Amino acid sequence: MSTIRFKALEQLMNRQAVKVEMPDKKTSEYYAENVFDKSKMKEFLSREAYECVIDSIENGTRIPRRIADQVASGMKAWALGKGATHYTHWFHPLTGSTAEKHDAFFEPNFDSATGIEAFDGGKLAQQEPDASSFPSGGLRNTFEARGYTAWDPSSPAFILEKTLCIPTIFISYTGEALDFKTPLLKATSALNDAAVGVCQYFDKDVTKVVTTLGWEQEYFLVDSALFLARPDLQLTGRTLMGHASAKDQQLDDHYFGTIPSRVSAFMRDFEVEAYRLGIPVKTRHNEVAPNQFECAPVFEEANLAVDHNMLLMDLMKKVARRHNFNVLFHEKPFKGISGSGKHNNFSMATNTGVNLLSPGKNPKSNMQFLVFLACTISAVYEYGDLLRASIATAGNEHRLGATEAPPSIMSVFLGSYLSGILDDIEQRVSDKKMTPDEKTDIKLGIGRIPEILLDNTDRNRTSPFAFTGNRFEFRSAGASANCAAPMTFLCLGVADQLRKFKQKVDAKIDAGVKKDEAIFQELKELIVYSKPVRFDGNGYSREWEKEAERRGLSNPKGAIAALEAFRDPKNIDLCTSAKVFTEREIEARHEIRVENYTKKIQIESRVLGDLATNHIIPTVYKYQNQLIENVRGLKEVLSEADFNEVAELQLETIKDISKRITAIKSMVTEMTEARKHANAIADIFEKARAYSDNVKPYLDSIREHIDHLEMISDNEIWPLPKYRELLFSH
Ligand code: ADP
Ligand code: MG
Repeated sequence: MSTIRFKALEQLMNRQAVKVEMPDKKTSEYYAENVFDKSKMKEFLSREAYECVIDSIENGTRIPRRIADQVASGMKAWALGKGATHYTHWFHPLTGSTAEKHDAFFEPNFDSATGIEAFDGGKLAQQEPDASSFPSGGLRNTFEARGYTAWDPSSPAFILEKTLCIPTIFISYTGEALDFKTPLLKATSALNDAAVGVCQYFDKDVTKVVTTLGWEQEYFLVDSALFLARPDLQLTGRTLMGHASAKDQQLDDHYFGTIPSRVSAFMRDFEVEAYRLGIPVKTRHNEVAPNQFECAPVFEEANLAVDHNMLLMDLMKKVARRHNFNVLFHEKPFKGISGSGKHNNFSMATNTGVNLLSPGKNPKSNMQFLVFLACTISAVYEYGDLLRASIATAGNEHRLGATEAPPSIMSVFLGSYLSGILDDIEQRVSDKKMTPDEKTDIKLGIGRIPEILLDNTDRNRTSPFAFTGNRFEFRSAGASANCAAPMTFLCLGVADQLRKFKQKVDAKIDAGVKKDEAIFQELKELIVYSKPVRFDGNGYSREWEKEAERRGLSNPKGAIAALEAFRDPKNIDLCTSAKVFTEREIEARHEIRVENYTKKIQIESRVLGDLATNHIIPTVYKYQNQLIENVRGLKEVLSEADFNEVAELQLETIKDISKRITAIKSMVTEMTEARKHANAIADIFEKARAYSDNVKPYLDSIREHIDHLEMISDNEIWPLPKYRELLFSH
């Protein structure tokens, strides 16, 4: 009984919560101590440099080299004072994780065997990492492998493990974006332009609108010893086999339950680190599935929120190891129980402090609210397929459309109260000139929208895009996703609808229609136009699928089909006309995702083939031999009649095992053939489809036999930690 599984279980029995060194001060006293934020800038920069950086953060102005030198010198002084030895540009390449390449501040002086700590504006502003190994979708010829990173002053530098990290964008030498941040910055800027234009109808003081994002990160924890005994978890992030545990989430006893002490120590530990890095984590709780948890911060400006999410995921992985845990961000680590998502709470806020998706106190502010609400709804209506594409991955494919996650169809949930208001506007506003009484009537109606709708929006967990009182919550993003992707397309879509709205209202005003009437009429237009995307019912039901089809909503089956939205001329036009992507950049992103899908399935298929062949089959043979020995023994000691009576069941099992082993072997061979076939296809899209259609199904059918064999085999010899062990140990 020396299998790695039992060794792991033995380690587990001796686990204790790791003691966490909590700072002996209040959070507010050490919050953001490792961030070069405004207060540190004030201390370490000249007034001129400080104002220049603030202007760049707020208005996107360029920072001249002379000032960059000053900022670099201030940053260096601060970082060295905190014991930093290295610096790095920190960026989000299209691999989906973060990237960094550290350089020492120290530069030797060869004449005198001494040296200095050097860092200047040039090094702050730009670096040229050899970028040839990052995915580029063919954007960068490999012989022209240079890409460069450029400082993003709107996300403050921070110190992580004695290294000064400078958030940057990452672009090719010819200027194409190779990361998630560049398009997000452009899209939020496009949304700012469009939103300010519309806000001006209501309040001349609005000069800036920022996109706000509050993500909710779900994850699983698995004990490290068990994790190491599961090659599938190690290499693919999910279990490729495993019989269901007799008890999993049926009793709903994990959700919001007491947080286990080892887990709670882990949470406190990473939260302290998060606070030091200025990440405003707020909420922690147990999620639905056993060993599943969630962490959510207070919302922030979208670019910063995305950086913080990427940073936190990194941090969680590192801190988890200290607590003998591995954290799983995979969208579906375990079959048959809930997967992990990352809800994106989205809104827009003005420089005057107004949340544009929050109802106000009077008819005027509510008009503004309704316009932003309607533009967001119609953005989802028009570009839902693009939103769906932005979160389509091999991992998320297991979630979407399954019965515990939002369906593949993009629809908007408003709740009965707001739906009623929109229906009312639809019925009462007409193209004809309205009488003052009619206007007052409508204004009175919308003036009564309760300021806080939170209690009025019945929670509908089946909707992918739900209004939750003062924001929309996009729920389809996977736990491992970079939120920048969905946020980029959402911002682009809303910006597009706001811009068009303003054009039409302006045209009406030019034609002599009164401003409020023009706004009413265009608002009604939007409400009518986007009505098919509104759905408050059960998004998991079969009826909705049929109804959605009737309404003409797209319902792509699987990631590869969803990604086709990147080729739709309407979507390409959206991206290029706002100058957020060139056509080539969109195409590249499509290619990268499709290739990533292929690789993920390829790896899963190889791992499953290996495990089936060298873990499962040999184990099952051993068990089968035990049975055969037993049957032989029975034959010796029993009379023929007795033997025939009792051995039947065992002989059946022996045969069943043989049949299943044969089936597994032949399916592994067929799966390998299917891979070879797919690999020979030159066209990457066709190749991905071949992986999806011809390779992926084997993952399920092979697993079915393995899971059955796990169930009938001797527990003592099973080599891989079982679901009940992975899910109920902490
Ligand atoms: P729930 O589980 O009810 O959805 P959570 O507290 O887990 O609530 O998460 C809500 C998230 O929404 C938080 O990250 C919160 O900061 C965020 N949020 C609240 N208001 C806004 C807003 N105006 N814009 C963006 N995000 C917001
Ligand atoms: Mg939520």
